[in-house]
Amino acid sequence: MGETMALKLYNTLTRTKDDFVPIDPALIRLYVCGPTVYDFAHIGNARPVIVFDLLYRLLRHVYGASSVKYVRNITDVDDKINERAARDYPDLPLNEAIRLVTEKTAAQFHADVKALGCLPPSVEPRATEHIGEMRTIIERLIAGGFAYVAEDHVLFSPAAMNAADGVLPRYGALANRSLDEMIAGARVDVAPYKKDATDFVLWKPSKEGEPGWPSPAGIAVPGRPGWHIECSAMSWAHLGEIFDIHGGGIDLVFPHHENEIAQSTCAFGHNVMAKVWMHNGFLQVEGEKMSKSLGNFITINQLLATTDFGGREWDGQVLRLAMLGTHYRSPIDWTVRKLEEVKTSLDNFMHAVSDAHATTPSPALIEALADDLNTPKAIAELFRLYRELDIGALRASLELMGFDPAAWQAAKTIDSALEEKIVTLIENRLAARQAKDWAASDRMRDELAAMGVAIKDNKDGTTSWEMK
Ligand code: AMP
Ligand code: ZN
Repeated sequence: MGETMALKLYNTLTRTKDDFVPIDPALIRLYVCGPTVYDFAHIGNARPVIVFDLLYRLLRHVYGASSVKYVRNITDVDDKINERAARDYPDLPLNEAIRLVTEKTAAQFHADVKALGCLPPSVEPRATEHIGEMRTIIERLIAGGFAYVAEDHVLFSPAAMNAADGVLPRYGALANRSLDEMIAGARVDVAPYKKDATDFVLWKPSKEGEPGWPSPAGIAVPGRPGWHIECSAMSWAHLGEIFDIHGGGIDLVFPHHENEIAQSTCAFGHNVMAKVWMHNGFLQVEGEKMSKSLGNFITINQLLATTDFGGREWDGQVLRLAMLGTHYRSPIDWTVRKLEEVKTSLDNFMHAVSDAHATTPSPALIEALADDLNTPKAIAELFRLYRELDIGALRASLELMGFDPAAWQAAKTIDSALEEKIVTLIENRLAARQAKDWAASDRMRDELAAMGVAIKDNKDGTTSWEMK
């Protein structure tokens, strides 16, 4: 237990880097918004997962592994999910199609983030398991005068929140905007049932065949929650009314996190929902945010399976190190070159520690991470340990940052065993061809193809190969 360790975190709420003071050092509580499970996650989506995994690991190191509770949700009710389910499984009843889409996508997400060296969170709640808590919060908001019913919708009124006196924070404090600016900005959609343009949906009616639950506030038709209320309900259910840290990508500051704060503080009567709000910067492609809507994305799965370079797949650990090479609040410009450089470094580190026992992580590395996750400085320390052959500390430091030398070694062993098998098959096939045993040669070509190997017979009599 390093109670003396000063951990500093940048807080979006105060716009300063402050000393982290846990509400209860025996149980640090962290919530991070998780994926909406309708499609593969792209490598921009991987950034918050990796960044907050590193924070989780650091908190565990400082306060003890059993003293940190990390909740990352799965959003399994959303219009995008409904649309995808109807498109992909037009012949199935919608609810069945939705189950297929969300199960498949969640399983893929788990496989992806595991390959990136991320620990599973302590709890991974699904929105559909917490509809009861959502209804309770909504009822409280209506009772408190912060929300109203209109045309079978329930809407939250930021104006009502800001008109209330008492401990409540100001709506707009996180995003650092005034309500007037938000009205003028009018990024909010206007709907006839809204009293004000800034009002947002807590609950909406479900159409026939769509997923629906009994509605709050005596609304007669079944309905479903808005996105923001889901996180207020899940964080409350698993972390309580006030918790330590809430995280996500910078794009979630407004409206998602602003609205989570509004819902939770108004429902529970506190001035904060989480004490510290942390946001990662964007992963960009040619200066633009990587996103599904812009179409400039590569999925985690595609990247890990790509064989463009030397016929070998990228290891998730390479992506992890490449991502952590930039401080989490700065944008990253994505290049394959970055992966190549990082791969060489990681190969060197892993080779150096392959027979070493982990001792303790270097104090300079911990100090760098404790300074608002200064990963560029932490990685510079990895290089120093490597140069000075302090391999016990290097191994412990790599492991603290979520790198796995044993897995790296195992992948390499599989790689070289596979390569040996491929080379042998190709040699045997050449021999069969020289002996004009076409049947045997074809059989070996098929066997190679089944292993994912494409071969090319060159004019000079040699055969080259690559992984498909
Ligand atoms: P979404 O699927 O858009 O809800 O995003 C899931 C998570 O990924 C959120 O925390 C987003 O802020 C984050 N995110 C999405 N795109 C990027 C990006 N290009 N760079 C960094 N984080 C991103
Ligand atoms: Zn959220």
